Amino acid sequence: MRIRVLGCSGAIAKGSRTTSFLVDDSVLIDAGTGVGDLTLEEMARIDDVFLSHSHLDHIAALPLMLDAVAKWRHSPLRVRALPQTLDALRQHVFNDVIWPDFTRLPHPERPFVTLHPFACGDVVSCGSRQIEVLPADHAVPAVGFAVDGGLGAWVFSGDTCGHADFWARIRQLPVKALVIETAFGEAEHELAVRSRHLSPTSLIEQLRHLGPNPGFPIHITHTKPSETADIASQLRALELHAEHPVGWPLTLHWLTAGDEFQL
Ligand SMILES: [Zn+2]
Ligand SMILES: [Zn+2]
Repeated sequence: MRIRVLGCSGAIAKGSRTTSFLVDDSVLIDAGTGVGDLTLEEMARIDDVFLSHSHLDHIAALPLMLDAVAKWRHSPLRVRALPQTLDALRQHVFNDVIWPDFTRLPHPERPFVTLHPFACGDVVSCGSRQIEVLPADHAVPAVGFAVDGGLGAWVFSGDTCGHADFWARIRQLPVKALVIETAFGEAEHELAVRSRHLSPTSLIEQLRHLGPNPGFPIHITHTKPSETADIASQLRALELHAEHPVGWPLTLHWLTAGDEFQL
């Protein structure tokens, strides 16, 4: 299983794209602006899109991608998300005002996109891959995902301020890599709390839920381009802090668009 990081920024700028991961050729995890780097052929091969939540930085490229490849596809693109996320798409995106209602076009019986609800704890099979829906705690209903192609799980937290049940499940899974957000720097810790995101200190607090050294790499995602340098140096300082509360030597990896995971 190969996972390409198409976008992992919390905002856009030249060289910074918002959240999207391509699993092999046919599964997309979130559809942020990173999707725009795919060729038409690559976009046309995507059959399933899993959305972590309804925020724009995670769905922005979905309506545009559909339009780009509609003529190339012979079956609808399946969009999978929580019922509340799918309702938000119906109400606020595919509403014939912001974008055509591709859930009914070009024909109600043969639309360009179909919407498929999942619930936390569901495991969805996509070919040889199993994708488990994990709990998250965010400003809108949100989830994370564990993607397993048979050789261990690649885990994505989604946007979250942390959820005890997420960590309980992580401790049970054969995790090979964890991608977790740190959306705000320390100066905006209060804003992070209010918007239900993580800051460097709250990330470290959350990692305590892992218990003893988990032995898998931890990759940081979703930093805003304007704050990335600050967040990186704050996390470095916490890593080096002799008494930081995780209780094991912490080495964090910085996720970059273009990175690939092989599992
Ligand atoms: Zn969000
Ligand atoms: Zn986000």
